Amino acid sequence: MLRCSLLFVVLVISLATHAQPYTPHTVPNTRVSDNSCVTDPDGLLDAATFFSMDTLLKATEKQTTAQVQVVMLKSIGDASEFDFAQQVFELWGIGRARKDNGLLVLYVADQRVIRFHPGFGLEGILPDATCKRIQMEKMVPQFRAGDVNGGMLAGVQEVANILRNPAYAEEIRDGSRPESSDIEWTPEATQGIGIIMFPVWLIVCTITYLVRRKTGFADSVNATAVALNLDFRKREWVWLWIVIPAFLILGLALTGSLWALAIGFYAYLIFLTFLKRAKLQRHTKAYLEKEEYHLLYQHYQDEQWYWVWKAILFPLPFAFLIFDYIQTRKSFRTLPRPCTKCRSKMTRLDEQADDAFLARNQIFEEGLKSVDYDVWACPSCDAVRVEAYPNRFSKYDACPACRTVAFHTISTSTLVAATTASSGLREVIKGCGFCNHRKKFTETIPRIVSSSSSGGGSRGGSFGGGSSGGGGASSRW
Ligand SMILES: [Zn+2]
Ligand SMILES: [Zn+2]
Repeated sequence: MLRCSLLFVVLVISLATHAQPYTPHTVPNTRVSDNSCVTDPDGLLDAATFFSMDTLLKATEKQTTAQVQVVMLKSIGDASEFDFAQQVFELWGIGRARKDNGLLVLYVADQRVIRFHPGFGLEGILPDATCKRIQMEKMVPQFRAGDVNGGMLAGVQEVANILRNPAYAEEIRDGSRPESSDIEWTPEATQGIGIIMFPVWLIVCTITYLVRRKTGFADSVNATAVALNLDFRKREWVWLWIVIPAFLILGLALTGSLWALAIGFYAYLIFLTFLKRAKLQRHTKAYLEKEEYHLLYQHYQDEQWYWVWKAILFPLPFAFLIFDYIQTRKSFRTLPRPCTKCRSKMTRLDEQADDAFLARNQIFEEGLKSVDYDVWACPSCDAVRVEAYPNRFSKYDACPACRTVAFHTISTSTLVAATTASSGLREVIKGCGFCNHRKKFTETIPRIVSSSSSGGGSRGGSFGGGSSGGGGASSRW
């Protein structure tokens, strides 16, 4: 009986002290959470070793851009240290993606194994034989003697010495500048930004609100709408406009998550786009009531780029809406116009018949395809309505002398060529194809910009998305 309960106690104690083995997913990524190059969740290292290793590896990264991460674990169960290292390496993306200059140093206590797992970019500098030599000379003897701290420090120091060798600098460096004054993009820093931004935003919004209250929340209305006395004034949901970003910033302050902010902001932009669409529908309704189809067509054409961009930025749902938008715009060109004299429906003349009602310069413009004209004739009275549809892709401008859209560049000649050091000068002759008006002027040629491929530096406090080819070495003791 005593034997049995003793066995039970031993079992309970061994279960309690034997920690759950780690999987690649359960190892805490301290680079992201603490901006630390040493991951030691089981406290296998003493504080001094931990600190000097972390300091050394941060300095090495600043100098060379190579990212070395040390992971110290009690147990990974029966998993192979090679597969484990490979998975952690890929999960965390150790090393700058462009150069793959990462190295994972994995220590597993119960398997008595040390593994160096380099990214592709470091395999030339840390070939398998070098990894093995460092492990066998600097680390394993000390591990055998029971000195985990000494062995780890000696091995990591040797790795750092190799990486910091000036002869390898070019091979390791990922092209970005060494980071000396980079912001540490930690959750705390992000949170700090949120805390500062929140009151600033509230002040900006209060001022905006007060100003808009004075101006009566008027929509921005184009000149034709004003001329037609179309009333688009409507109390917009100004408060949502203000309150949603305020909540986004507040969320940033509370969670410190830039991702949450980014997703929230994206959703907010989609929301604003829907507001804009609602406004467009109100405008459309107002124009339709006035039967101002020509103006409506132009309004849609003016705003088309806005909607094309929205379709690109937010394919769901605006990519579908853009087709409807273009169809709708086209339909406004063919809707029968009411006669301003007798209110009966006018008919659109075909391209041959309409020439009789167009001026000579208008026919000329149609020939150049710079402006297309629609002629509407009333079947009951003699009223005629001419509508202009300028071609936005035409190379012709309106002539300053006769207003015909037939003004274009006839010749250019370089007076002074542009160089990378200074801008140049050219003479341009423009002329009107209709009235023969000529204009000669000089304009500057912009300085030639040399295309330099300077990449932006990636941030500290995270890995750069490197991947490993599975080289490196493991040693046991
Ligand atoms: Zn009529
Ligand atoms: Zn002219």
